[in-house]
Amino acid sequence: MSDFKTLDQLSADTPRGSIILIRADLNVPLDEHGTVRDATRLERLLPSLEKLSDDGFRIGVLSHFGRPKGQRVSEMSLAPVADALANMLGQPVAFADDCIGDTAANALSALAEGGICVLENTRFHAGEEADEAGFAKALAAPAAAYVNDAFSAAHRAHASTHGITNYAPTYCGLAMQAELDALNAALGAPQRPVVAVVGGAKISTKLDLLGNLSARVDTLVIGGGMANTFLAAQGYSVGKSLCEDAMLDTARAIMAEAEKHGCTILLPRDAAIAPEFAAGQTADIVSAKAVPDDKMILDAGPAAIIDICAAFDEAATLIWNGPLGAFEIEPFDAATNQAAQHAAALTQKGQLTSVAGGGDTVAALNHAGAGENFSYVSTAGGAFLEWLEGKSLPGVAALSA
Ligand code: AMP
Repeated sequence: MSDFKTLDQLSADTPRGSIILIRADLNVPLDEHGTVRDATRLERLLPSLEKLSDDGFRIGVLSHFGRPKGQRVSEMSLAPVADALANMLGQPVAFADDCIGDTAANALSALAEGGICVLENTRFHAGEEADEAGFAKALAAPAAAYVNDAFSAAHRAHASTHGITNYAPTYCGLAMQAELDALNAALGAPQRPVVAVVGGAKISTKLDLLGNLSARVDTLVIGGGMANTFLAAQGYSVGKSLCEDAMLDTARAIMAEAEKHGCTILLPRDAAIAPEFAAGQTADIVSAKAVPDDKMILDAGPAAIIDICAAFDEAATLIWNGPLGAFEIEPFDAATNQAAQHAAALTQKGQLTSVAGGGDTVAALNHAGAGENFSYVSTAGGAFLEWLEGKSLPGVAALSA
């Protein structure tokens, strides 16, 4: 995005051999042997690291890991992640036992041009989450410039995502740029019509999201458990289904707000039901207006899937958050699978820009075998949701401050 300074500008502004700090998200899941279970976030970081290395900078990688709450906790050391990064890059990656002070400065100065050093967990210092000026200044001290490549941490005003930008020239990393471009294509300046899918368990956790989307998209597909609350708000009985009775007025208010903005809300016409939320059941298909008292809705039905796919056919842009049913248990993954596969096929034909993320969405789309064929799948949880809610993210705002 044009108001941020890019890595090309960094290379033009900064002498070769300078120390550059890059804020990454190395907060990846590790197993008990310290092996990375899902390296997606590391893979996305490689282009920025490779470019900075090719341009001959000395690179320090900053990140949080877990929630050590300002204490040194050995299980939350970034050392194993530095090793994983070295394997992926095919070049050695040094490790410094602290992210500030002489330890950090000496490790960074000792690097050869193009060398990379992971600095220990920023959250081992209380100043990180407190966005303390003294700590931010200490982080920035060895660096000629700072790059933020961690969109997933950008919803937090912490020293390594926010305060540090007061003490070093600030640039936008390639992964951050790709994320912001995708988000802008989805909701900033999208091709219309725009359809949004919001699924998942409850309305109560997605109120701001539903409010913002209903004012900005053309069609809002509501699925998953939260669709039950909307059906109940329209006066239909939903049997034993997950339903937030305290949210019925809220659901009605969201529907009224959507109507005011010309946004069509698409609720499931039919449903896959079973006696309980458990594996090994067969689904019965019923009208969403005729759910028996002793059954619960666990997925959208085949007619609803046809409606959703037809909405995708009409759309130029799709934003997706949350599964359409209890996708972890077969056969209640059918709606999520079929709709995701259809969106992926339209994307591959060049008909649809599809952007997805938040919570269980990545797992649901991967379960459907569709994630790779979306235009963009965000690995950021909270930051992606806050952005969908229309909030300003401190780490993004600080890039152009
Ligand atoms: P969320 O974290 O709010 O995105 O919710 C995701 C969870 O919603 C998944 O674990 C799904 O199993 C669950 N879910 C989706 N549809 C239903 C449903 N109809 N009834 C109960 N849980 C559901």
